[in-house]
Formats: sequence, structure tokens, C-alpha cells
Amino acid sequence: MKPILLAVHEETRDLEMIQRELLSRYDADYEIVCEQSAASALVRLDLLRVAGAQVLVLFAADEMTAMTGIEYLQRAHELHPRAQRVLLIPWGNRSASKPILRAVSLGRIDRFATMPGRSPDENFHHVVTELLRDWQQQQHGTPTVVTVVGERWDPRSHEVRDLLQRSGLPFAFHATDSDEGRALLHQVQRPTGPFPVFIRFDGQALINPTNEEAAVALGVRHSSEEGVFDVVVVGAGPAGLSAAVYGASEGLRTIVVDRETIGGQAGTSSLIRNYLGFPLGIGGAELCSRALDQAWSFGAETSVLRRATDLRADGTDRIVVLADGTELATRAVVLAMGASYQRLGIPSLESLVGAGVFYGGGITEAQAMEGQLVYVVGAGNSAGQAAIHLAKYAERVTMIVRGGAVGASMSDYLVTLIAATENIDVWLCTTVIDGHGAGRLEELVLRDSNTGKARTVPAAALFVLIGAQPHTGWLPSSIERDQRGFVLTGENLLPASVTTGAAAAAAPLA
Ligand SMILES: Cc1cc2nc3c(=O)[nH]c(=O)nc-3n(C[C@H](O)[C@H](O)[C@H](O)COP(=O)(O)OP(=O)(O)OC[C@H]3O[C@@H](n4cnc5c(N)ncnc54)[C@H](O)[C@@H]3O)c2cc1C
Repeated sequence: MKPILLAVHEETRDLEMIQRELLSRYDADYEIVCEQSAASALVRLDLLRVAGAQVLVLFAADEMTAMTGIEYLQRAHELHPRAQRVLLIPWGNRSASKPILRAVSLGRIDRFATMPGRSPDENFHHVVTELLRDWQQQQHGTPTVVTVVGERWDPRSHEVRDLLQRSGLPFAFHATDSDEGRALLHQVQRPTGPFPVFIRFDGQALINPTNEEAAVALGVRHSSEEGVFDVVVVGAGPAGLSAAVYGASEGLRTIVVDRETIGGQAGTSSLIRNYLGFPLGIGGAELCSRALDQAWSFGAETSVLRRATDLRADGTDRIVVLADGTELATRAVVLAMGASYQRLGIPSLESLVGAGVFYGGGITEAQAMEGQLVYVVGAGNSAGQAAIHLAKYAERVTMIVRGGAVGASMSDYLVTLIAATENIDVWLCTTVIDGHGAGRLEELVLRDSNTGKARTVPAAALFVLIGAQPHTGWLPSSIERDQRGFVLTGENLLPASVTTGAAAAAAPLA
């Protein structure tokens, strides 16, 4: 049976309009099901659930007689938890916005869209195709640039999956002990590794390549590095990519280099909701891949998996030195190296990094958390987002918070959403002190800071998001930094006497 798009609307004309739009575009690949009441749609969804059918998108009218569209979508979602929920609102009905925005914040609907009006209604199709594309990207069998076979709980496998995910390269991963993995290893005559083995789209195998070798083989590096640049941007997170877009759009010869891949921290975020222009949020990797396209369209060059190791002056030029010895001459340098996760510093857990212990939101690991007990350490926005994303898959997500509340460091919308997510617990005044497992994390030891008592809990995974350290250690001493290593800018660069003088000058004359 084809995957299903199911719509419900009580008005015959409106339902016909939705049906016509869906049939005209999606009939060849998807089953279109339309129902005229919430009750009949729920009965139908239950039958589909029993039959094992895959419902991808649920569309519902905002207002219905027996229940509201939001209530219906909530119940429908219990039957098909993976389906995306779209609330259809009539043209110009902005009065409905408060309950709708609340429903989005509480995770009760995924999108809202205006009812299709004219035909074809491209705004409506824009929403539908985005949802279908997201679904397709999560599917196995999407055309892949590279297939990786590696040991499931090996930290290097985790690192490779993370890099590929953030590079935006379509890839597949198979464990060495899976049927697919074994078949692929047999095909490239490497049944015993060493792992991971990369199999390119054209069949070429790379055996346990370095990140550098993989980047070259997969064609993710495209730049010419001759001559003098106008701007070298170090770091391809959102800040670096913005600098690349604006540098290149001003006609400056711009290159952005990153020691890892595109996207920085943002690339690991499952959903960013506070970025201008994306009212319903956007995945971090998607945001950065769009920024990369934008920078590229203005002529910016990119070079990934290249670490900047030194910076010096040569007359009026600045020279950025890369780890492989390449020297990039430029008129200006933008430092946008961001920061990386603060480590827990617990040796037993550090030895399990990639094997159940993860730094960051763990988008790539989320699906593997299906039915598991998962812990998230931290109380900032990134920890909150990670918990919400993981809760879609895990049986239970427990947030471990050192302080007495989450609200101080987390945006209000995330605090509300966490409180409304049934399978997230928040344990306050708690710290992680130890953890164990044979080859992968199996249990954690936690301490209640009020009572001082320690307890051991079973744990399949621990995601750590407890703040960040700046990546400025490689800079020469001539670049001024504060005690924590952050580069001083603006007024902070002025000697104390100058700032004191400014304050004195601003004081009223006696
Ligand atoms: C899971 C998660 C969710 C988040 N969600 C949100 C959110 O919803 N809203 C929000 O506002 N913020 C969010 N954040 C925070 C946001 O992602 C960061 O504030 C943002 O990414 C910072 O951007 P940046 O470009 O300054 O640095 P980064 O994103 O840290 O990027 C810096 C880049 O520089 C590279 N680099 C470092 N050193 C070198 C070197 N020597 N040579 C070459 N390259 C180097 C790194 O590899 C990295 O790619 C989230 C963060 C995380 C981890």
C-alpha cells in the first residue's frame, strides 16, 4: 500500500478542493484519503493502523462540530505518531492565531496552512512538498552519495555519521553485523574491515579513510586557493556563513574554511524556531545548507575539513595557515569559530563517548533511541531542544539539571513544551557523577545535591549539553582574549583608562 495523505473537512466544497489539489499532484505516489468528519477519519485511521499502513500527513480543518481540528489531530497522532499534522485555516482568519501558535508550541500540531483557494494553489503545495521531502530524507533507500558500514557503537562510526549528517550529504549507515552491512562488505571484499568502510555512489570503496580523504573522495571540497582573498572566514557556522554571504554579495573574493563541516553547532539542532523568516522553525542542517547555497550563489568558496592553525601578518596581507600547511593570503579575516561543548570530565563516561555518551543534540542518534531510557544533561535551549526531539523516539527522556529550575537559562517556549511532553521528566538539583557499561553505556550514577545521596539508574544514552568553550586556542598572542578565551572586540579592546575616561566625561559637570 502506498503511503497515505489523509484530510478531513466537514464542508463538502472545501473537502473537494483539498482532494482535487492532493490528487492532482500526489496521486501517483501516495494514497489520498478524504473524510467528511473527525469521527469517520478516526475510525479510518484506526483501521489503517491495524493494517500496518503508513500515514504520512494528516490535514484537518480548524473548526469542526464534534471536536476542534487541534483535538482531532491530537487523537489522530496517537494512532499514527509519525504522521505530520497540518491544521488548515481559512483565508484571513488571523483571530485563530493564538490557539494555533499555542498548539505549535505545545507540539500538538506540526504546521498550519491556509486552505487551498484557487487551483493549483502553490502555497498549499509548498507546505505539502516540504513535509514529503522531510519524510523522504528520513527514509532508507533515499538516493545516497555514500553508504557507510561500521561498528554500531564504535565512537568513530558516530563521528562519521555526525559529520555526514551535518554536511547535508545523503548517506546510509549499516552496522557491520546487519544483513545489509554484511552483504555490502562482501561486495567490496572487506568482510573484516578495518572499519568504517565507505562505499561511494559509483561503487568505489574507501577503507577507514581519514576525514580529509573522505572529503576529497566525496567531492565536498571545492575551492581554488591561489592569489589574495578579500576575506577569509574561519568557521562555517551560522556566523561564518552569514559573513560569507555578505562578503561575497558585496563582490569581495571570499572563502570560508571549517575544520569540520558546514553548520557548526546549529547544524546539530533539530529545529530552530527563533531564526528570522522561519515562523514554524527550520532544521539546523537545512538552515545551514540553504545559507551555503546562498553564499555559493554569490561566488563564495568553501573548504571543509580544514583547520586553521595560525594567523599572522605579512605586510598589508593577513595569512591564515591551515593544518596541511596551506597558506591563505587575504586582506581581512573574519573569526567565526564558535565554541564547543563543555566536557563532563568523568573518565568512565569520556571513555564511552560515541558509545551511548554524546555531546550535542544527537539528531543522528535519535531514531536509534526508539523505546530506550535516555538522559539529557543541561538546562539551556540546546538541552531543551534535544530532550524534545529525543522524546519523539525514546520511551522516556530525563533531563538532569544541576540547579533548582530550568527557566533561568531556557526560552519560555521550550519550558512550556517540556512541561507538556508526557515522556520528559526533569530532575532538578541532580548531577551525573559516574556511569558504566560493557562497550556501551548501560547505567548512570546520579547524585541528588539536596540529600547528597547517589543512585544508579539504567540508561541507554546520555546527551550532554552543558555550555561551551571558544575555539580560540590556536590564535597568536597578539589577538586579545578574556580569561575564558573569548576574543575581545569593540569597547572591550580599549585600555581601562580610556573607558574610565569616557565614563568621567559622561558625568555631569560640577
Ligand atoms: C543542539 C543545539 C541546538 C541549538 N538550538 C538553537 C536555537 O534553537 N536557537 C538559537 O538561537 N541557537 C541555538 N543553538 C545555538 C546556536 O547553534 C549557536 O549559537 C550558533 O551555532 C553559533 O554560531 P557560530 O557560527 O558563532 O558558531 P558555531 O556554530 O559554533 O560554528 C563555528 C564553526 O567554526 C569551526 N571552527 C572552529 N575552530 C576552527 C578552526 N581552528 N579552523 C576552522 N574552523 C574552525 C567549527 O568547526 C564550527 O563549524 C543551538 C545549539 C545546539 C548545539
